[in-house]
Amino acid sequence: MSSLATSLMAPPAATTADAAPLPPILGTYKRQKPLLVRGEGVYVWDDAGRRYLDLVAGIAVVSLGHGDAGVRQAIEAQLATGLVHTSNLYRTGPGEALAAWLVAHTFADSVFFCNSGAEANEGAMKFARRWGRSTGHEQKVEIVALRGAFHGRLPGTLAATDRAAYRLPFEPLMGGVRIVERDLAALDAVLDPARTAAVIVEPIQGEGGVRVLDAEFLRGVRALTQERQVLLILDEIQCGLGRTGHFLAHEGVGVTPDILTVAKPIANGLPMGAILVAEAVGRAMQPGDHGTTFGGGPLLAAAALHVVQRLADPALLAHVREVGAWFGEQLRGVAARTGVVREVRGTGLMWGMDTHAPVSAIVGRAFDRGVLLVGAGEHTLRFVPPLTVTRAQLAEGLGVVEAVLREVGEG
Ligand SMILES: *Cc1c(COP(=O)(O)O)cnc(C)c1O
Repeated sequence: MSSLATSLMAPPAATTADAAPLPPILGTYKRQKPLLVRGEGVYVWDDAGRRYLDLVAGIAVVSLGHGDAGVRQAIEAQLATGLVHTSNLYRTGPGEALAAWLVAHTFADSVFFCNSGAEANEGAMKFARRWGRSTGHEQKVEIVALRGAFHGRLPGTLAATDRAAYRLPFEPLMGGVRIVERDLAALDAVLDPARTAAVIVEPIQGEGGVRVLDAEFLRGVRALTQERQVLLILDEIQCGLGRTGHFLAHEGVGVTPDILTVAKPIANGLPMGAILVAEAVGRAMQPGDHGTTFGGGPLLAAAALHVVQRLADPALLAHVREVGAWFGEQLRGVAARTGVVREVRGTGLMWGMDTHAPVSAIVGRAFDRGVLLVGAGEHTLRFVPPLTVTRAQLAEGLGVVEAVLREVGEG
């Protein structure tokens, strides 16, 4: 490497000589040390044979649990055809079947497949702008997001994500995005029929601390967006597809979006996202307006078609509502007994617990006792287990959570 390149690339403080070597996987995550090698249901195992109860599910992704036989069969059957990927230049069966199923079972009239949550939201914002301009207002492109929102880590979605630590190092982000308070008066002040293309909302703010938005607030947002001819994009990447005990979270609050994004659990761990659109938005998009090489390929779509049908099963959804309500009560009991919890919030199998202690310490201690937990922000413990989890398994996790909270409370 030339000395010019070296000097440009050198970190400002440390010299290469004192720094530890870079890990082969870039160090953007702090990982737990043990190597995970196997999974079954709500458990994973490390290479020393230790078992862990997984209350994270790969961050609300592995909703049917690890090693699910049906998912595996769907993947293996598609693999057996030899067709994993063709690109979107050609028709394939699984993607068409999945889109047809989603159109038949949701508000949507059409679907665009992509590869992740952030990609789904970036696409949704593009669709909203295309639609905005199609109404005849050349400047109808602004996207409005809410305080506490998380919509992704790419430059467009990051502009709609309300966390300084995620944003500041990477500014300037995409323009034309503004974040407003979670209140109708604030939205009333900024939504302009000639300028605003869309409001993007997570019905339950996930990464921002598991905040369940009021049904009444969401209905108010829907009414106001309709009145101002502004699209409502619901980001159900984390809270959708069964997690609330409804197939889609908005079905539980009686609000219908114009655009909906889903991702995390849609293929039970294979990377996939989808943008579901109402007719008017779909009609605004023309051939060539958006694209993605991998989106909706046959292997992923075959897995997802199996997964969405399982996640829409009324028996599973009833289980999520019932076990989830019980789990919430138990968390409130733990909060009352340990005295280090400020608030418990959630619904279905998506719960958050605000603690006075730093979440990273709690997560680390729970890991050492064989329970996987994840934070949402610095002071919220988040519980997003596989939706197939039983009361007995949750009780096992609750015992560990309570013991750890007592420890950190004393320490
Ligand atoms: C995780 C998440 C995203 C981003 O999804 P990625 O697949 O990580 O890009 C966007 N919105 C919400 C609500 C999420 O939970």
